[in-house]
Amino acid sequence: MSTNPAADLPFYYGSIGRSEAEQHLRLTGMADGLFLLRQCIRSLGGYVLSVVWNQEFYHYSIEKQLNGTYCIVGGKAHCGPAELCEFYSKDPDGLVSTLRKPCLRSPDTPIRPGIFDDLRDNLLREYVKQNSNLEGEAMEQAIISQAPQLEKLIATTAHEQMPWYHGKIPRQEGERRLYCGAQPDGKFLLRDREQPGTFALSMMYGKTVYHYQILQDKSGRYAMPEGSKFDTVWQLVEYLRMKADGLVTVLGEACLNSKAAETETPNIPATRRPGANGYTPPPKVHNFSFHSLQVSSNRLPEGSECQGMDANPYHNPNEVRKFNIQRSLLVIDELELGSGNFGCVKKGVLSTNAGQIDVAIKVLKSDNERLVKEEMMREAEIMHQLNDPHIVHMLGLCNAENLMLVMEMASAGPLNKFLSSNKDSVTVENITLLMHQVSMGMKYLEEKNFVHRDLAARNVLLVNQQFAKISDFGLSKALGADDNYYKARTAGKWPLKWYAPECINFHKFSSKSDVWSFGVTMWEAFSYGGKPYKKMKGPEVTHFIKDGNRMACPAACPEQVYTLMKECWTYSHEDRPDFEKVEKSMRSHHQSMSKTSGGAAAAAESVKSSLTRAILS
Ligand code: ADP
Ligand code: MG
Repeated sequence: MSTNPAADLPFYYGSIGRSEAEQHLRLTGMADGLFLLRQCIRSLGGYVLSVVWNQEFYHYSIEKQLNGTYCIVGGKAHCGPAELCEFYSKDPDGLVSTLRKPCLRSPDTPIRPGIFDDLRDNLLREYVKQNSNLEGEAMEQAIISQAPQLEKLIATTAHEQMPWYHGKIPRQEGERRLYCGAQPDGKFLLRDREQPGTFALSMMYGKTVYHYQILQDKSGRYAMPEGSKFDTVWQLVEYLRMKADGLVTVLGEACLNSKAAETETPNIPATRRPGANGYTPPPKVHNFSFHSLQVSSNRLPEGSECQGMDANPYHNPNEVRKFNIQRSLLVIDELELGSGNFGCVKKGVLSTNAGQIDVAIKVLKSDNERLVKEEMMREAEIMHQLNDPHIVHMLGLCNAENLMLVMEMASAGPLNKFLSSNKDSVTVENITLLMHQVSMGMKYLEEKNFVHRDLAARNVLLVNQQFAKISDFGLSKALGADDNYYKARTAGKWPLKWYAPECINFHKFSSKSDVWSFGVTMWEAFSYGGKPYKKMKGPEVTHFIKDGNRMACPAACPEQVYTLMKECWTYSHEDRPDFEKVEKSMRSHHQSMSKTSGGAAAAAESVKSSLTRAILS
């Protein structure tokens, strides 16, 4: 599937390091403009171009953009690495020299496979499987078409699938786990720190545990203080397995989390695992099973009748089984994630035949009548028809002590709250990335002819700092095939500040009115969770808008992004852009930002002195 577009190039060496690249160039004669291409291990899907000039080596990193194009930071975009090299063979455009002579790979030097190649493909495949009901050829097509957008997003959560990832455990617990069993140098684990998006690497050396911080920089890359930067945490970890780069020693054996320990060594007590004698083969990253990723509504337990259900509250009895989740498979936490008029949303765990997964459960208040139950069922029915990476996935309904809507968990919570409490660590580029994702989800809804009717920052949930999903379909409607709007008979408890004039004046809701709400959501996001229209009341806002006023540009918001916001607030829905246009515009804003703030220029793999970064975290 996502084959490496450089694989056929005779001057491509695969995953070799800087010094090895220099060695090849040296052996081929050091002519000016002699060059080769290799895989970059810091940036996903990226490459490094190594060039000789004046007896010196220059290494340029080539980044793969979200839209699938490639560029050297600050340079022009090209559709593939081959096209890029061809371009620089004619025009130096900022490089030390044009690419004059390819350093060809000899027959006895095969392309070195990257450590991440298989892993990335597996994750991608699982992800598409999870988020669609496709099979066979249709799924292969979906993987190919979605790969460029999804690769980076998936990779940001990939560490959670790794045997060395222990989640949010305190420092002492990390130490305790490392001291369990054998204590070879380099034995390590990764854990979350309090501050979201930051991690600690705990490692054994000389029977002592060292802790290192891993932080995110402004462009969302991960690094130890002053260390090399990587797109994702797992790439950083893989790199540190090859090179100490400031650690006391390179990373060695993984201290297995409980899930990995169970699957890798069933029935063997922990103290008698192979590691106990001081040696454990490196974890098999390639065929690691992604149990917690294997979730899809069509693989959930089906067929059995609801437990404890008397009158059938479903208006379409055929749907009961499709949505049904047995109560016995659900463990509900006391922890409340949020609440509303309907009841509350709780955290929970669902057992599926593919493993246990974290879920969010919308629990209806017990004193609810039929009407409210039907509302929740309608919400479930809408969600059931939606299948997009940027829309919260429904897993099913469970009718037990209460009626419950079970959804995938978006653990970083609502966008507005996240931004207002993480003002210092979230960049404008990051916000643009998230809002671009929201526009992709909305474009999907527009194509499927659904109107959301409650798009607002409070209803955009985050899986993590890099991954947003649209939620709360309580007010949503599916439009008829020939309709382009929904007409509400009466006004309800409406979020007026987010509503377009035609919603308020004529009760007409369309994807175009969702575009208006998207504009308000953008304003909230770029104001870091600010409240729109300050202290004004709903009806005051209606007058304010009718008189031709609009909210001002948030302090952090770039001018072009504000221009799009204002376009979303075009009074007449006929002249307002649709989501197809909005998404395109958000995409280009994000691309131009990630290009300017993007990673390091030429790859500078500096070797840092050891121990200095063993920062206590
Ligand atoms: P309401 O219709 O009352 O607005 P929502 O569906 O927006 O209900 O959920 C209310 C709150 O519950 C959200 O603001 C959020 O904090 C939490 N919540 C809802 N769904 C999820 C989810 N899938 N993952 C994590 N938290 C969620
Ligand atoms: Mg809500």
